[in-house]
Amino acid sequence: EVAVNRIAAGEVVERPASAVKELIENALDAGATRIELCLKDGGKTLLRVIDDGHGIPAADLPLALSRHATSKIDGSDLLNIHTFGFRGEALPSMAAVGRMTITSRIDGADAASITVDGGEMGAVKPAALSKGTVVELRNLFYATPARLKFLRSDRAETAAILDVVKRLAMAEPYVGFTVRDITRDEAGRVSFRADAQSGDMFDALGARLRSILGADFADNALPIDAEREGITLTGFAALPTYSRGSNVAQFLFVNGRPVRDKLLIGALRGAYSDFLSRDRHPACVLFLELPPTRVDVNVHPAKAEVRFRDPGNARGLIVSALKHALAEAGH
Ligand code: ADP
Ligand code: MG
Repeated sequence: EVAVNRIAAGEVVERPASAVKELIENALDAGATRIELCLKDGGKTLLRVIDDGHGIPAADLPLALSRHATSKIDGSDLLNIHTFGFRGEALPSMAAVGRMTITSRIDGADAASITVDGGEMGAVKPAALSKGTVVELRNLFYATPARLKFLRSDRAETAAILDVVKRLAMAEPYVGFTVRDITRDEAGRVSFRADAQSGDMFDALGARLRSILGADFADNALPIDAEREGITLTGFAALPTYSRGSNVAQFLFVNGRPVRDKLLIGALRGAYSDFLSRDRHPACVLFLELPPTRVDVNVHPAKAEVRFRDPGNARGLIVSALKHALAEAGH
């Protein structure tokens, strides 16, 4: 069981940033409105995600750490996935490559915690916590030196973590995010903060993007709101004058999940092809929403790529919506 978990762990958790993605997605799935991440040494010695979500019942703590135990689908519904998680793989995989403690509390019950160390699950114990869940992952990959060696500098791993948090924060403007680097002391240094936004989607997203990407992007961004045959596209796309020398400012989401997808990047390029040379890349934050039955998010365990039932539709929507917005803005 431990060996199986370690093999699977390599797919789900390649570095601290991938653990952060899984932990924050779990917090979002639990309905959290505030999420705080504390990290030490680029996440290699400590990752701690604190949320105010609905929590895990004490009796379910061992289950949450067992392979393929998910509370999110019943198995008959693999095509209808609304939550980030659905495989029940993340927690056991992480627990197999580090020391994990989960402390959680549901409404109307006392808090409890469980620790997995070296693949050995301890007993559920009483704990102190006012609300939600705290997942702590210590010494990631110390038991698998080959992987540990593969990690980059603390600085580079921290940057990768911040990138993951920022992408998730873009998709969830109503949720407050804080990242605290506690390498030096427990109080730490805030390395990222995005306050929970309110108001309608464009107001909330606009404010969130202004805080993450800066006024320069926000001042040059056109709101996008389009629909075609059951697919919607919303977000902001920047004017061609705000293009970049690489695609660092392209943030694409499918059904709320951050993706890096060739088809979508190609569609973006197509939309701007009249205005940008090959070495310039448009900047945008775009959300594609379509029925879960029309898109496969199951292509890769890290879920960064997607497969569309009808790629032409998604591409056509992006190209026409962005061309239309650019034309309206005088291009
Ligand atoms: P998945 O997210 O695919 O279901 P995970 O291994 O990530 O699998 O998590 C296993 C289960 O543990 C989840 O289905 C959920 O019930 C529970 N869980 C994990 N993290 C949290 C959290 N932060 N708040 C509430 N429940 C959680
Ligand atoms: Mg999960």
